[in-house]
Amino acid sequence: MITLSNIEKVYQTKSIETVALQHVNLRVPKGEFLSIMGPSGCGKSTLLNIMGLLDVPSQGVVEIDGQAITSYKDKELAHIRNEKIGFVFQSYHLVNDLSVLDNVELPLLYRSSVSASDRTKLAKTALEKVGLSARTKHFPAQLSGGQRQRVAIARALIGQPQIILADEPTGNLDSVMGEEIMNILLDLNRQDGTTIVMVTHDENMAQKTERLVRFFDGQQVSDAKVFANNLQQ
Ligand code: ADP
Ligand code: ADP
Repeated sequence: MITLSNIEKVYQTKSIETVALQHVNLRVPKGEFLSIMGPSGCGKSTLLNIMGLLDVPSQGVVEIDGQAITSYKDKELAHIRNEKIGFVFQSYHLVNDLSVLDNVELPLLYRSSVSASDRTKLAKTALEKVGLSARTKHFPAQLSGGQRQRVAIARALIGQPQIILADEPTGNLDSVMGEEIMNILLDLNRQDGTTIVMVTHDENMAQKTERLVRFFDGQQVSDAKVFANNLQQ
């Protein structure tokens, strides 16, 4: 579903060069739930941004769903992102002066093929999926952190993405709410077959996924099946 071949990313700021990623070769098969761990600054966000076509590698090839990304024209990238990828961030990235329903509808505003009434229907279905049907008219400030993250997941789901990229989705949540979010992601993966790549600092969360890749200093240092997960199934 996602293939990274020989990816390198160098940030150039004035005279300072930072190598954020090097020699990254990673294949994420369709339907996998992969977690990425590693210390702060090791390149996890950069990796996720490159997988999500939000950032351009300095070298190497990204393939999404069998399609090599050869052009980095904004419009084409936006199209692939819109069609295939949903993003979930640690800090939710909701629009505070829009209602829950309007926040979830946002990604479809740019799709001329979807009518306003279909947009609302799809948003309600996505909110049902995350258990937030009773909060459609609320505003983000009226919700708990866990509920806000569920809105963000519903927003990621509305375009029916094949891939969800989640950057520390439980990082701002207490353990109970973190578990809830994790269970939603696990359901999406197991029931809908959504491919998920999740960056996390939480070893317990990583142990619930299928595979764990660890990074250090911009390089993969380990790649292993998660056995706890296999035993549960
Ligand atoms: P992580 O997500 O693991 O904390 P990042 O991917 O954010 O790591 O960063 C990897 C390295 O690249 C760090 O040294 C960071 O300072 C650097 N970096 C990240 N983004 C930029 C940027 N836009 N400009 C310059 N350096 C960056
Ligand atoms: P998080 O760890 O929560 O993912 P980061 O601190 O890694 O957040 O990065 C937040 C944003 O700032 C990222 O989009 C990254 O590209 C950018 N960034 C990180 N380090 C640098 C840096 N040294 N210079 C410029 N931008 C950076």
